[in-house]
Amino acid sequence: MTRKDIHLTNNQTPVQKIDEPFFKDLSIRLSIKREDLNDNEIQGNKWLKLKSNLEQAKQQGYKNLLTFGGCYSNHIYATAAAGKRFDFNTIGIIRGPEPKKLSPTLNFALQAGMQLHFINRLDYRNIHNAEIQKKLIKRFLPAYIIPEGGSNQLAIDSCADYAKTLPTDYDVISCACGTGGTLAGLIKGSDNSKKILGIPVLKGADFLFGEISNFINPGSSTNEVNNWTLNTDYHFGGYAKSSAELEDFIVEFYHTHGIKLEPVYTGKMMYALYDLIKKDYFKKDSRILAIHSGGMQGLDGFPELKKRLE
Ligand SMILES: *Cc1c(COP(=O)(O)O)cnc(C)c1O
Repeated sequence: MTRKDIHLTNNQTPVQKIDEPFFKDLSIRLSIKREDLNDNEIQGNKWLKLKSNLEQAKQQGYKNLLTFGGCYSNHIYATAAAGKRFDFNTIGIIRGPEPKKLSPTLNFALQAGMQLHFINRLDYRNIHNAEIQKKLIKRFLPAYIIPEGGSNQLAIDSCADYAKTLPTDYDVISCACGTGGTLAGLIKGSDNSKKILGIPVLKGADFLFGEISNFINPGSSTNEVNNWTLNTDYHFGGYAKSSAELEDFIVEFYHTHGIKLEPVYTGKMMYALYDLIKKDYFKKDSRILAIHSGGMQGLDGFPELKKRLE
């Protein structure tokens, strides 16, 4: 079997300027890097994080990829698609009991050939424990194991390499955070003159300060780079929680700028940036680069919003 080269054909994504009258008044420039356009399936930061893992798995001769996630996970979706495209078998360990009706994400994964294995929430919570992991996944081995959300050291280094490809005429780089792996890479790969602002999309995300420090500098809990921060005020009630206000913002943003966001990650980030600009959070003349990290398949979990974006 000759495996296909691990690359995307559409790797050059544009930076688009976002114009709003109130930005001008406050002398703020906002642009968005369209990683949602890198691929329809292995999209956004999920490609950035998977790429080097796929290369490593291929190099080490693995045929199976095994990873973890919830029913609506962008990472599960992307891994299933990557397996199909680059000739790996994929196994998805899914949190929670098998639902009567599969989510659109899991349906896609199944169609792409992913083998789905459901485990209860309690075991799932302990899945990072090496012993429990060994017991639960033994029958699927040997497999190249990718952690939930795809955030391992290879993924972070790959995001750091990505940061070096970004245009340099920006003062602030912002990204939505789940595990914080992507943000850690952006911090690692950016020079100290840049400020990196993460917007966690889950509630109670203070633990991410430590996680991200550890991703940047494994084993060290002290924060040696201080050009980054998180604003934890924009979770909208928790992971994958949405609100009428957030969805109205996403619809308005689409009608004004022609760019689709979704309510799990990128919608919250952009809402946060608008709100922070209004609240004078950024220095005058700041040039902000927002990363559109993709995840558009997530809209399938919000059919009414999806309709409003047609
Ligand atoms: C997974 C994901 C994130 C979060 O990435 P982390 O590296 O886990 O912080 C952000 N945006 C989108 C669209 C995602 O799918």
